[in-house]
Parts: sequence; C-alpha cells; structure tokens
Amino acid sequence: MQTKHMTAVLAVIILLLLGIVLLAGALDHTVTAALASEKSAVPIMAIETPAIAKPDKPQELWRITAYCGCATCCGEYANNRPEGKVVGAAGVELVQGVSCAARGLPLGTVVRIEGIGEFIVQDRTGKEQAEMYDNKLIDLYFTDHEAAKVFGRTNRAVEVLR
Ligand SMILES: [Zn+2]
Repeated sequence: MQTKHMTAVLAVIILLLLGIVLLAGALDHTVTAALASEKSAVPIMAIETPAIAKPDKPQELWRITAYCGCATCCGEYANNRPEGKVVGAAGVELVQGVSCAARGLPLGTVVRIEGIGEFIVQDRTGKEQAEMYDNKLIDLYFTDHEAAKVFGRTNRAVEVLR
C-alpha cells in the first residue's frame, strides 16, 4: 500500500516536471519570435558601395550621320538658299569638313569625333532624330548628296573641345 502511494506521488512529480519543461520551451519560443519581429521592424539600410570613377573622356558613342543642303536632307529648309548658299542655324554658310549639326550642344561648340576630325556645330538636327539618340547625334555637312550618302552613318566617341 505504501509503495503504491509512493509510485503515484512520483508519477505526479514527473508529470509536473515534464509540464514545466514543456512550458519553459514554449515560453522560450515566444520570446525568440518576439525578438525576431522586433528585428525585422528595424529599417533596412542601403549598402554603401564605393563610387566608380568617371572616365575623363566621354565613353558613350554618338551617332554620326551626314547630310547636304538638298530637299531630301533638309526638307522645306532647302527652299531657303539665297544665292545658292547653304546657311546653318548659326547664320554662317556651311562648309564641308568644318560644319556639323547637333541639338544638345550650343551653336559654335567645337567637337572632336574619333577617327574623323574636328567640327563646329553650326546647324541644328531635327528634334525627333536627336531625341532618338538621346541628343547624342551629330550630322556632318556635305556639299553634295552623293558624298553624304557615301559617308553613311557610324557610331563614334565624341569629345567636346570648347
Ligand atoms: Zn542631301
């Protein structure tokens, strides 16, 4: 009778201990979860990356095209050729090998086109054409249409000199 009672008490004690262990485990889990949610509430900071050094010279290629003063190249502007002179937007007579048209650069700007030479912006390209190339378009002036056609078009590095 005495032994049976002792066994029952022991069983109760074991069950109680097991309960405490389980409860402690559950509590620990809750605390961990609370900490985790607290952590995720912290704003995510952007990782600072070292700035990449900008190249000294522009690396992006410009679109280089060619035109002359004819109606095919200039549209209605071809009707305005007093004394047969082709005068650009800058008000000066255009010269092959010197004059070019651009939009994103002020008139009078001197540019060096890689492998082609130096030119002065003395005319304006069409707005839509320039926008197609993000204003990185230079149209070289030629005295005749065939020469402009022979030149065709290319992509080159352009340096703004002054
Ligand atoms: Zn032409």
